[in-house]
Amino acid sequence: MSTRANFYDLPRAELLALAARWGFPTVHAARLWTYVYLDGVEDWSAMPELPARFRVKAEAELKFGRHDTAAETHSSDGFTRKYLLQLGDQRKIETVLMRYTGRVTACISSQAGCAMGCVFCATGQMGFIRHLSPGEIVAQAMHIDRVLRDTSPATPALAQPGSKSAHERHERLRNIVLMGMGEPLHNYDAVMTAVDILRDANGLALGAKKITLSTVGVIPGIIRMADELRPIHLAVSLHGATQEERAALVPVAKKWPLDELMEACRYYIAKQQRRIFYEWTLIEGKNDTPESAHAVGRLLKGQEAQVNLIPLNPTAGYDGEPTGREAAKRFQEILAEYDLPSTIRQRRGIDIAAGCGQLAVAKK
Ligand code: SAH
Ligand code: SF4
Repeated sequence: MSTRANFYDLPRAELLALAARWGFPTVHAARLWTYVYLDGVEDWSAMPELPARFRVKAEAELKFGRHDTAAETHSSDGFTRKYLLQLGDQRKIETVLMRYTGRVTACISSQAGCAMGCVFCATGQMGFIRHLSPGEIVAQAMHIDRVLRDTSPATPALAQPGSKSAHERHERLRNIVLMGMGEPLHNYDAVMTAVDILRDANGLALGAKKITLSTVGVIPGIIRMADELRPIHLAVSLHGATQEERAALVPVAKKWPLDELMEACRYYIAKQQRRIFYEWTLIEGKNDTPESAHAVGRLLKGQEAQVNLIPLNPTAGYDGEPTGREAAKRFQEILAEYDLPSTIRQRRGIDIAAGCGQLAVAKK
């Protein structure tokens, strides 16, 4: 295996510092960064503006840890594609490209498998394999960005003469949800480094408001995000409005109990001056009754919050049924009585198991 460092692990400032340590002006590292993140170039021989000596050194020290595609499936809905990506150690993860509601979104994984064991989640059912590195997270976004560049037609109106950047000519990745495999706050440092790289203004330049991190409710991570004033959106998976109901679906609620979680969420909202999105997987007859809706209303009343309702997607290890349209609407109406805005997530990509909680790969 190569001992070269993965380019995608490096924040821009680190790349510049590295170039300085190699004895080169940082301007070359800055150009290398834009070649990769702005122009989508991963081929050392296609970077003519880099001096040969710098290119030779960089190539000797760095590799582009891009993911090989082990499989690719397209949903019959026409909006969703799922990629099974192979990591350097042959482990695999899944990444989803969604093109609905008028925008392009990548659903990115933060771990291979997950240690949290939520009963209705296919990733939880497979158990924890390992954390992903920052570069392995960034490379998923780059994969999706490459797919977009390769498949979207060039927009002639935007292709200005002399413009070099693929940014200006092709559909690019604009939105990211950290809602794929794994619990992002269980892999805090790697995830935040990846987010910094994705947001870098000289590169992909993703807006902070275009990135949403979803957590099962890892309290120390929520508090850290608040203290560090991380500007991305936060979604918290609730699923139960009492400690008992929640712990039956989300086992880690025993470690991070509901009342302490609510305290952490209120702290986050106050500190960040920003709302939280709560996710609620609707399971027929389990947590979708009017009583459950009232319990959510009482729990969240007065909070800057929005509730995202997700009708249960099927997984092999859980035999619950999704809530029907009418009951979901009723749930929403009750939340509205508590001034809680909510949405019902569209069911997409279910035929290729690309929906929420459906991502899983065979354990080696
Ligand atoms: N680990 C993070 C993010 C990944 S899961 C978290 O748990 O928040 C993204 C969302 O899908 C979570 O709200 C999760 O609870 C939900 N989910 C998991 N399995 C599901 C299923 N089978 N059907 C619908 N939603 C599911
Ligand atoms: Fe892990 Fe999230 Fe699935 Fe729970 S729902 S097992 S935290 S990926």
